[in-house]
Amino acid sequence: MIKFSDVKKVYSDGTEAVNDFSLTINNGELMTLIGPSGCGKTTSMKMINRLIKPTAGTIYLNDTNVEDYNIHELRWNIGYVLQKIALFPHMTIEENIAVVPEMKKWKRKTIRNRSHELLDMVGLDPSIYSQRRPSELSGGEQQRIGVIRALAADPDIILMDEPFSALDPISREQLQHDIMQLQKEIRKTICFVTHDMDEALALGDRVCLMKEGRIIQVDPPQELILNPASEFVKEFIGERKSPWQTAVDVIADQTKSQIITKSAYAHNKYPNQGTFIIKDHDNTFAGMVADGQNQEKCIVLENDLPLSKAIDIMQDKNQQLYPVLKSEQLVGTLTYKDIVTYLKRETASKDGVIR
Ligand code: ADP
Repeated sequence: MIKFSDVKKVYSDGTEAVNDFSLTINNGELMTLIGPSGCGKTTSMKMINRLIKPTAGTIYLNDTNVEDYNIHELRWNIGYVLQKIALFPHMTIEENIAVVPEMKKWKRKTIRNRSHELLDMVGLDPSIYSQRRPSELSGGEQQRIGVIRALAADPDIILMDEPFSALDPISREQLQHDIMQLQKEIRKTICFVTHDMDEALALGDRVCLMKEGRIIQVDPPQELILNPASEFVKEFIGERKSPWQTAVDVIADQTKSQIITKSAYAHNKYPNQGTFIIKDHDNTFAGMVADGQNQEKCIVLENDLPLSKAIDIMQDKNQQLYPVLKSEQLVGTLTYKDIVTYLKRETASKDGVIR
């Protein structure tokens, strides 16, 4: 756990970089720090591994003040990934990964196994890559080595300062994907600085949005999108369309296969198994029938209701099918499963992370 308590940083020239900064990053949580350039993201992060000393306030790692740690132990136990990873050019990839484990005096065989395991984890075949030199790797591959090097000695905490921003969009997406996959397995406590809102929303379990050295909002991505705390947050997020904001009528089944007329219902001319919505001759909603039983307590959805709200309404209800109405007119039907299928598809490219 990383805990900032009332942290403040004023540089010697009087620049107030961070102020009133209180934030807890829980164990196993990936927190993204985002905000306009100069808002204090890097300063905040560098105070964790004591590259910068706070002017006031305290930072705790697992309840111990970072000032109370031996500086070498502190640095070895915190993985650190920078924008432009500096691999040692004369060393092989395996030797580069081994730097911290060697300082920690791990056994040679353990180090070798660990580096091969890590290369495997990010899809780089150890038999090909372990003996290569950094110059024989692409930018994206080097950055991947930077990430696994930070993981090598199995630190609990990892700091990432714009680790992918120097990469082309494809490598960047690939590495974001890698990090999401890795994090599912390793569940480290990660503080990730970025200026890219898509990245912050895609990766963060929570996002900490900063402005002029202060925290403006800390929330899970979906919450930030649906309930921005201020105009600034709204503007910063931009016109981002979350699939959760999609209106129900966009995905409602409009084939009307589950809709029967009032007269068909009255004359029992419909299948007596399954759930059906009944419509009047003017296409207005007239009720619902499930397995031949009239459903008096039927919940209806207004056409412009966002899916997030629809899900809330449907939760814990035993209703199989929902009519979607626009000014009393039936425009389609919807099931809970339709929504889940849609959300899953829309978020699949980001591995289930809601954007
Ligand atoms: P960010 O990472 O959000 O871009 P930084 O933490 O790098 O922001 O910087 C926050 C503020 O502190 C900026 O105004 C920056 O110019 C200033 N700053 C950063 N480093 C120093 C320094 N060593 N001396 C004086 N001011 C600095």
